[in-house]
Amino acid sequence: MTRPLPRALALAALLVLLLAAIASAATVRTATTPAQLRAGKAAYDRAVVAGFAKATKQLDAQLRKHPKKPTVVLDIDETAMSNWGCLDAVDFDLGGLATCVVQGKSVANPAAKRLIAHARARKVAIAFITGAPEALCAARRKNLVAQGIKGPFTLACRPAGDTADTLVPYKSAARKALQKRGATIVLNVGDQASDLAGGVAKSTVKLPNPIYTTP
Ligand SMILES: [Mg+2]
Repeated sequence: MTRPLPRALALAALLVLLLAAIASAATVRTATTPAQLRAGKAAYDRAVVAGFAKATKQLDAQLRKHPKKPTVVLDIDETAMSNWGCLDAVDFDLGGLATCVVQGKSVANPAAKRLIAHARARKVAIAFITGAPEALCAARRKNLVAQGIKGPFTLACRPAGDTADTLVPYKSAARKALQKRGATIVLNVGDQASDLAGGVAKSTVKLPNPIYTTP
């Protein structure tokens, strides 16, 4: 007879899984020190707001071309949602990123919410493509909704079998899959070059991420 895994243990197991996923995609801390990150937080916040303002302009420019099934693709971590709080709490060790993702503690970027509202008011579909593993997909969705990013949206998580050194094949294939279903990806926003590489988007915006990089 087996007992259900206690919640704390289940979370710990997911944490291990996520840390392995982060390792396989080789997410690495930048050389920016915790003190430098904290000192630069206001400038970082402003740059994110500016990035989403640029994204909104690009979206509007694309919509003037009357695309079929216009869709905005967003990355989640350090794009739609911020993990700053969890990371700051552990001096920006990447374990903080895992904690936020596993425990659903990521916080929506207000600028991302404004872009989503702007897009939806113009009948644009929203699709999230995250590097988080499939085992955490339900938790990711729950976190988005709890942060006021309600459905409908589609959410793609990284398949368990994908152990590539880079997220580019998975993320670009996920965009292609949307395109195959008739979507025109008018805008793709992410904080990593790997969110945007591989094409399949009419326009892209790269947000800054002074904390970590994911190939
Ligand atoms: Mg990201």
